[in-house]
Amino acid sequence: MNSYTIVNPADESIAETIEHVGVDETDEAIARAVTAQKLWAAVDPADKARMLRRFAAAVDSNRENLAGIEVRNSGHPITQARWEAGHVRDVLEYYSAAPERLFGQQIPVAGGIDLTFHEPLGVVGVITPWNFPMTIGAWGFAPALAAGNAVLLKPAEWTPLSSLRLAALALEAGLPDGLFQVLPGRGSVVGTRFVTHPDVRKIVFTGSTAVGKQIMAGCAEQVKRVTLELGGKSANIVFADADLERAAAAAPSGVFENAGQDCCARSRILVQASKFDRFLELLEPAVAAVTVGDPTDPATEMGPLVSRQHHAAVSAYLPADAPVAFRGHAPTGPGFWVAPTVLTPASRTDRCVTDEIFGPVVVVLPFNDEADAVRLANDTQYGLSGSIWTRDVGRALRVARGVESGNLSVNSHSSVRYSTPFGGFKQSGLGRELGPDAPLNFTDTKNVFIAVD
Ligand code: NAD
Repeated sequence: MNSYTIVNPADESIAETIEHVGVDETDEAIARAVTAQKLWAAVDPADKARMLRRFAAAVDSNRENLAGIEVRNSGHPITQARWEAGHVRDVLEYYSAAPERLFGQQIPVAGGIDLTFHEPLGVVGVITPWNFPMTIGAWGFAPALAAGNAVLLKPAEWTPLSSLRLAALALEAGLPDGLFQVLPGRGSVVGTRFVTHPDVRKIVFTGSTAVGKQIMAGCAEQVKRVTLELGGKSANIVFADADLERAAAAAPSGVFENAGQDCCARSRILVQASKFDRFLELLEPAVAAVTVGDPTDPATEMGPLVSRQHHAAVSAYLPADAPVAFRGHAPTGPGFWVAPTVLTPASRTDRCVTDEIFGPVVVVLPFNDEADAVRLANDTQYGLSGSIWTRDVGRALRVARGVESGNLSVNSHSSVRYSTPFGGFKQSGLGRELGPDAPLNFTDTKNVFIAVD
């Protein structure tokens, strides 16, 4: 074991020290999970459902506590952190219906009866990033538990506190010991062990595309199931016929939410050339109006970046000669602050256009016509989200079908909904989370034929 110091990103005070688990403790946890899963799979569907609803209720009555932890650990504004805690409850409630609805099929065949069953995989390893620790954790553990699996969750090094609290709440709610365990530790130690241990039957990974590729390669060794939710560089496409005022007013929330540390951030705004200057005129006051500051204040819309290291990585995209059109405000003094920043690079190949910066930095680029907009939107290795602003319904649908991306919204920047599928095209990921079918992603289909003759 070794310990790790958690720093509050808003004021750089020390929030807590956490013991990291090593390979031996990980193996012990996997062994406990194997035992717990066998017992859990045998629990009646209605009792599984009841226990998951009790877990949801425990999260609900601890929402304020969980939100406070996320403010302290991750620097999320309290209003957003409260939404995140409520979302964890909602995800658990939604999937608590699944144990009683894991329907198989009865398929007509000659000479007998053919049935399919959705069998749990066994132990599932969930590896989460630091940007939305508890919500992204829940997208993995809730449907996996509902489908009859045990779950081991490894939170990111910087942000383990809300996940540890969720594991304690699961126990308080009566989930069996060992069924849902949170193991704080290094990716290269605990995360790698999830990949190499034969008793972990699936990895759900959310994080960078670079690490996701390593995990996919590692899983191939054992033909281990894997879901990957990776990076993004999503486009917010504004056509000349759009309601420009609304599009400009909404653009900051589409990219600066969680200080831009959002895989779905619409970090490339593409504006039809004839309205480019007008759009920037409207965008400037909207960016200036973003309230950046103390995350404990309910009026705050944007907090600090998560860590000193990440602050340095984002700042590297903002050298003195960066093509800054304008900036919003940010506090000075302690804390990892970057003001919302709008760039208007001259070239479509500038690295601020192509790289996922993962901070409050957006580029605005002009395009000529519909075909050019789709080409520019697709000129990236990523394909996670995106938005289309136009009053022409036909164009909205054509462009939505043309953009190679998993999650698009028209005349809005829709956030993730637990009841609809979420995931990426191209190098933004593999597989889907959430939506009605998510529990099936934690099962293997078994076919059984019964002869009647
Ligand atoms: P990261 O890849 O550095 O780390 C993610 C997790 O993987 C952490 O828990 C880390 O400890 C672990 N890890 C690191 N190396 C590992 C290894 N070799 N084996 C196993 N585990 C390992 O990512 P991050 O910086 O924490 O998160 C930011 C990234 O996550 C961004 O690229 C963002 O777009 C992406 N993200 C994607 C989604 C999505 O749903 N598509 C959601 C949120 C974040």
